[in-house]
Amino acid sequence: MTKAGTLELARISARGVVQGVGFRPFVYQLATKYNLKGWVCNTSEDVKIEVEGDRETLERFLVELQGQAPPLAQIESVSTTYHPSAGYKEFEIRHSLAEEGKYQLISPDIATCQACLREIFNPKDRRYHYPFTNCTNCGPRFTIIEDIPYDRPKTTMRYFKMCPECQAEYDNPLDRRFHAQPNACPKCGPQLELIDARGNCVAGSNAATAASQLLKDGKIMAIKGLGGFLLACDATNEKAVKLLRQRKRRPFKPLAIMVIDIDEARRHCHISEREEKLLTSPQSPIVLMWWKPGSTVCQAVAPNLKYLGVMLPYTPLHHILLRETGIPLVMTSGNISEEPIAKDNDEALRRLSGIADYFLVHNRDIYARYDDSVTVIERDDIQLTRQARGYAPYPIHLTFKAKQVLGCGAEEKNTFCLTKDNYAFVSQHIGDMENLETMEHFENTIVLYKKLFRIKPEIIAHDLHPEYLATKYALELASQFSDVKLVPVQHHHAHIVSCMADNKVESPVIGVALDGTGYGSDRYIWGGEFLVADYKGFIRKGHLEYLPLPGGDAAIKGPYRTAVGYLLKLLGGDSLTCELAFLKEIDALEIKLIKRQIQANLNSPLTSSMGRLFDAVSALLGIRGEIDYEGQAAVELEMIAYDSIGNESYPYSVIEHDGVSIVQVEGLLSAIIKDLYQGTAKATISAKFHNTIAQMVCEMCQSIAKKTKINQVALSGGVFQNRLLLRELVSMLESAGFSVLTHKQVPCNDGGISLGQAVIANFS
Ligand code: ZN
Ligand code: ZN
Ligand code: FE
Repeated sequence: MTKAGTLELARISARGVVQGVGFRPFVYQLATKYNLKGWVCNTSEDVKIEVEGDRETLERFLVELQGQAPPLAQIESVSTTYHPSAGYKEFEIRHSLAEEGKYQLISPDIATCQACLREIFNPKDRRYHYPFTNCTNCGPRFTIIEDIPYDRPKTTMRYFKMCPECQAEYDNPLDRRFHAQPNACPKCGPQLELIDARGNCVAGSNAATAASQLLKDGKIMAIKGLGGFLLACDATNEKAVKLLRQRKRRPFKPLAIMVIDIDEARRHCHISEREEKLLTSPQSPIVLMWWKPGSTVCQAVAPNLKYLGVMLPYTPLHHILLRETGIPLVMTSGNISEEPIAKDNDEALRRLSGIADYFLVHNRDIYARYDDSVTVIERDDIQLTRQARGYAPYPIHLTFKAKQVLGCGAEEKNTFCLTKDNYAFVSQHIGDMENLETMEHFENTIVLYKKLFRIKPEIIAHDLHPEYLATKYALELASQFSDVKLVPVQHHHAHIVSCMADNKVESPVIGVALDGTGYGSDRYIWGGEFLVADYKGFIRKGHLEYLPLPGGDAAIKGPYRTAVGYLLKLLGGDSLTCELAFLKEIDALEIKLIKRQIQANLNSPLTSSMGRLFDAVSALLGIRGEIDYEGQAAVELEMIAYDSIGNESYPYSVIEHDGVSIVQVEGLLSAIIKDLYQGTAKATISAKFHNTIAQMVCEMCQSIAKKTKINQVALSGGVFQNRLLLRELVSMLESAGFSVLTHKQVPCNDGGISLGQAVIANFS
């Protein structure tokens, strides 16, 4: 036992997100409070602390260190060893130490804090209306960092030399801006500028006010934000919104809006307590919420939808614009169709000059592209449907010690994933990998993550689809290194393992993977899959029957083709001559061609996709025959179901073939047609269809459980973005005694594939 009063030295290592979040000043103040001597220092892997005092005081210091840490710090571990006193005379903050091969976690960008907001709107403050105000509790992080340790010279802020006042704040351990790397003020920091589409300056010092006036006048504005350009316009002005859609070539895809505060958000949406908490959190994501009928936000913002994506201002510039305009603003990614979000001024002018009337730009460079995150609250829990700002690059914690693996993902809504130690670093949303710009963004971001987290992949995992650009990238990359192992991973196995890892589950599950398209082990297109799976492998226990997609991709873009194909295959040619309203919209010649395509088996790949079944039903009901964005037909089918309540359902059958259960939908489709003839409301038909799918999935799970004694079900795949289906199915499965895993930290859509791939490759 140490006697009270004897000086001891505690060597402490704190790990997690502990840099760039005000942790060292906090340690300094804590040490000063207890009159402890020693030092604190950032290294490449942790924050190291040496303090000396008597054991009792040191222990109190340690409790407070973990219990009272600053809001953005995420302490993952604190290890302490005790040693004889070193005789320190004072407490100091030492210079950061870079260590070869070591790494640490990096904070995502964080929404403006209350203390900074008070300064921005205080006319007497030197940062009054300054759009780049930040402190250690808020502001840009990941989007400006080029390497670690996180210090100003390694960020895009290095070009701005701090003025004496800012420098004094930066150097003062008792200041809120002590070592706030992006610290700036109107005198020394980045500046705004308003330019027109030709690049001519329209306004300088009063740029935000001038931009606000233009927005009120119905103009479209490209605004440089944290991770790239956003396109903004008045969300209550139908003409402006339609013009934006026309120029962006996006007739239907829902746009998000930004409103000034939670009270304004409540005028447009029904908001639960949990949703309010998420909206106002430091991550400040887009939250999809139930749209109120009386909202002044025009329908064109999210045509045919009952949910509206809303976010609150997350940078000082947003706060200023929202206050000055006093209207809800559309805020959508600054890109054309599927290209990545524009991030540099020149690039934005080049790519967005046909869309935006004006550009509100500044001279702080963005290092990493970073879209807004999209979330929903379901079952009182957050689900990320697009993970980016506020979340990436914070890692998923794994249940095992990982090898260094790169999972390259799939094609749409792609991400990649790198694993190391107990971490899986899933990248921010990269986009649909179908053009050169997205491919470049993908490759550059992989390079950045490898550098920041000091990862050199020994295994590269990829999808089975030979034509995916991410697959080609994986093969190309592996060919450059002789010691790198390639692991191909089946798409739906990756979905299910992604859901398992998301929930920290390793034991085998019944995996229900429902999505649009995934390359199967038999080379058909899968997507309505019932697997028994774990990290090591899977057995396909059941699936939807194979049906033809006339024209392949053409059927995906035109669900009416899928509907024609399914009817022809299941109900025969006569079903196409009947009086179905949706058939009258299609050219008779095209129907003939589709028939011939299927009969001759020409470019009509077979699929077991659940997404396509939703498409077919949506087209059959005349809801949506051609789509603008992925999932549109299914989403609109879901929307009308909310107008009907009931427990009715349609028939279907299950047959056994070589030990695999195959779900047949002939009975389902002919019953829907019968309902249509009888004049049953489309809302009722859609609700009955949703009930049927939930029952079918539940019944399949029960039959697999009987044979395997597994009572844990994992739900994954883009179809589970359907909230009605998810709710119904989860409650059915739970009443049947299953424990149900759903996605939380990574999307259930293909944005989660890379995580599953990387985990599977770790066990290959
Ligand atoms: Zn702040
Ligand atoms: Zn300054
Ligand atoms: Fe998928």
